[in-house]
Amino acid sequence: MTGPRLALQDGTDTELRALLERPGHAYLFVGPSGSGKVSAARAFAAALLCERHGCGECASCAAAEVGSHPDLVLIERSGPALTMEEVRSATALALRAPLGGQRQVVVLRDVHLGRQVMPALLKTVEEPPASTVFVLLADGAGPELATLASRCAVVHFERLGVDWLTSTLTAEGVPPDRAQLAAAASGGSLVRARLLATDDELALRRDVWMSVAGRLDSTGCTVASLVSELTELTDRAMQPLRSRHREQLRHHAEHAKQFGSDSVVPKKLLLEQQRREERRARTEELQAGLAALAESYRIRLTPADRTEAQRPHSVEAVRDAAACIERAGRSLVRNPNETLLLQSVLVRLQQHV
Ligand SMILES: [Zn+2]
Repeated sequence: MTGPRLALQDGTDTELRALLERPGHAYLFVGPSGSGKVSAARAFAAALLCERHGCGECASCAAAEVGSHPDLVLIERSGPALTMEEVRSATALALRAPLGGQRQVVVLRDVHLGRQVMPALLKTVEEPPASTVFVLLADGAGPELATLASRCAVVHFERLGVDWLTSTLTAEGVPPDRAQLAAAASGGSLVRARLLATDDELALRRDVWMSVAGRLDSTGCTVASLVSELTELTDRAMQPLRSRHREQLRHHAEHAKQFGSDSVVPKKLLLEQQRREERRARTEELQAGLAALAESYRIRLTPADRTEAQRPHSVEAVRDAAACIERAGRSLVRNPNETLLLQSVLVRLQQHV
């Protein structure tokens, strides 16, 4: 079978192609965040929906690629875990008839965060109408997913390495220095690495985060001004994603005009997806910033890497600072108030000024 790649990893790509020969009704893609599961799910769905099994050229393939195909629905959690409401909406979609062709694909992300709703999810996945195909995505396959996995064809995704990402970006025309920086800050995600590669302020943002520890004093006023600087920096980092979203909306409107409004996903659903994508990108950006901040403490332990302005810290102080920053990075996923979280991190770090 020809057509565009289905997965970034060669082995996984071959496996998905083999699965397309005899499509089943449910798939579970398992692999770390950033390993390309979402784009693979999209490509796999495109191949299932296309009359020519994923030619990459027809209107159906084009709509699937940009996320506006009416029979390809992507459901994401809006909070820390999948909710009953989100599973119900997947169920309702699974039960409807395809809008465009013979088949529809329902992609549900983060099923590893759905312990509470697993019985409902299992029931839905076990009894879909023949025209519905489920593609479930999980960052890991813990024991709580065993029953679900037994109902699906399981496909594994490996993490994308910094070297692989760097050479991929370089092959796409990104200058090597920039490719390396973007790959290292991407957390193993090609989507984020590509965004960062077009981001002129990436190096600047990293420098600002690295400078925070040296600028802290014992006043609340400094904390407040650093928090507002970091928040603005994060806002500006969202610009490449926002322009990609504007482009997606433009394509959506054009497609609707050309093929009718039934040929595209409802605009409300698309806007909702974009909002969640931005939330996720913002979390990743803040996590990358916090990682740079933690690094700025660690390098103080190595005199050779320390600049004149940076005073040495005790091992305990560095350990405490790094632990506090890492905790904050993890708790960002639970959607806390960003400003309050940054404030509490910086207040804690003031102890080590
Ligand atoms: Zn096609």
